[in-house]
Amino acid sequence: MTNTMNSQPKFIFITGGVVSSLGKGLASASLASLLQARGFKVRLRKLDPYLNVDPGTMSPYQHGEVYVTDDGTEADLDLGHYERFSGVPAKKTDSITTGKIYQRVIDKERHGDYLGATIQVIPHVTNEIKDFILSDITDEDFVLCEIGGTVGDIEGQPYLETIRQVAYDLGRDRAMFIHVTLLPYIPTAGELKTKPTQHSVKKLQEYGIQPDMLLCRTQMDIPQNEKRKIALFCNIREENVIAAKDAANIYQVPIAYSKEGMDAQVCKHFGIENPAPADLSKWERIVDIIAHPEGEVRIGVVGKYTQLLEAYKSLGEALSHGGIANHYKVKIKWIDSEDIEKDGAAAHLNDVSAVLVPGGFGARGTEGKIMAIEYARENKLPFLGICFGMQMAVIETMRHIAGISDANTTEIAGSNCTPVVGLMTEWDKEGFKQIRTKDGDLGGTMRLGAYESVLSPDSLACKIYGSDKISERHRHRYEVNMSYEPTLNQAGMKIVGKSPDGLLPEIVERPDHPWFIGVQFHPELKSKPFAPHPLFVSFVKAAIEKSRLL
Ligand code: GLN
Repeated sequence: MTNTMNSQPKFIFITGGVVSSLGKGLASASLASLLQARGFKVRLRKLDPYLNVDPGTMSPYQHGEVYVTDDGTEADLDLGHYERFSGVPAKKTDSITTGKIYQRVIDKERHGDYLGATIQVIPHVTNEIKDFILSDITDEDFVLCEIGGTVGDIEGQPYLETIRQVAYDLGRDRAMFIHVTLLPYIPTAGELKTKPTQHSVKKLQEYGIQPDMLLCRTQMDIPQNEKRKIALFCNIREENVIAAKDAANIYQVPIAYSKEGMDAQVCKHFGIENPAPADLSKWERIVDIIAHPEGEVRIGVVGKYTQLLEAYKSLGEALSHGGIANHYKVKIKWIDSEDIEKDGAAAHLNDVSAVLVPGGFGARGTEGKIMAIEYARENKLPFLGICFGMQMAVIETMRHIAGISDANTTEIAGSNCTPVVGLMTEWDKEGFKQIRTKDGDLGGTMRLGAYESVLSPDSLACKIYGSDKISERHRHRYEVNMSYEPTLNQAGMKIVGKSPDGLLPEIVERPDHPWFIGVQFHPELKSKPFAPHPLFVSFVKAAIEKSRLL
């Protein structure tokens, strides 16, 4: 049985209080998947109060991974959680920042659209946010909007005012406020403390928002009397105080929330009579495989941002999905490529069954990545190079097999090298010429979003994908230089995937190696626990086979 709602979409606004990093993104994604499990159509959106136009130019150390959508938006990594949990591809219209909002307001002001008015946060900025929330919705039953940051931040105020207004405009039967908070455990008192939550709700109430549900992050079950206390002081129904206990793995979260009654209470809030029961079998299956793996395989990831694993969020997930598909646990050994430069590749890679070099920017640590690739090639360890990792694999073959010792990317060596990777200044997207220059803007000017590739029918990649036409997401400025294809061929590396016009290399392979693939795109962005990406499934399988030989 599926639910049908003949009325217009309902909006759920998710805010966070007390501290940051409470996992609002995961919470939003999990609730969306629960509503889907009851047959509803969902959409997830992120509203980020920072002033950057998008996170594209932010340091991965500060902001973690930049997630890229099919339509080429550079967005917060929470959009990755949304896609992985709901399977709904995120769009440009699902991610907004204060930078974008102000850019729009100022463009309109310059254009004279405000007819001489004084431009103010209320109503001009809030109206722009409102337009974003209400735009591009078709037949969704629920639109979940997560507000970034923590209640009380100055940057967040226009967003809180806007969602208050949206709820006022639509009526409370079409809007719901969920507030995610923390119940810290104080060991000396032996208690979970509710006061920070009470304060955070008070703060929300100052902005005119009365939350309808609290999702309380906690290390342990919340005793019923504590729930009662929180409910009374925060003016919330007791059954709407939901415990969000730390979970052993993130795919357990939807099941745990459902047990706490979250989706049932959301349906109740919106007056949905007799909703279809939630079918959680897909999540139960995944959790079961994760809990009972047939074995463990260790894969080395050689990168630059290994101090902050948020920078490789989707990559870590995609590897774990590859493990789930093979009923194995993937243990990732994160290796800083500068350590390989210091100690040599063998010192760090002799206990792994496969090597992955992910995307990256800039010179630091690149020689270590090249050393790791050489080690994987020579020792026949399965190797996957992603974006920068593919570019480094090409450089490695050119230097060590073709004998061109100054082979490099112009990103690092400028004009002082044989430019086997360089800046393409023009390329085609849907019939339009895209232009980029060395000194142009850094923000939003990469080859971004979904592009098609055509694969050689006899390639390993084609076998893995089961198709000779694929579409994958990109985020890079430089390209492998096609004029070196004959040299690469002679050195045993084949360009087996190209753009449909044949001008841009997309996939390289080494047929003399059991599993050696470099891809110019980011396959990790499209992997889902219930639809693992074929490249990761095959890569992990190759790693498992290698581990049996080691
Ligand atoms: N720095 C490289 C480029 O811009 C690779 C980018 C990446 O790995 N995402 O082309």
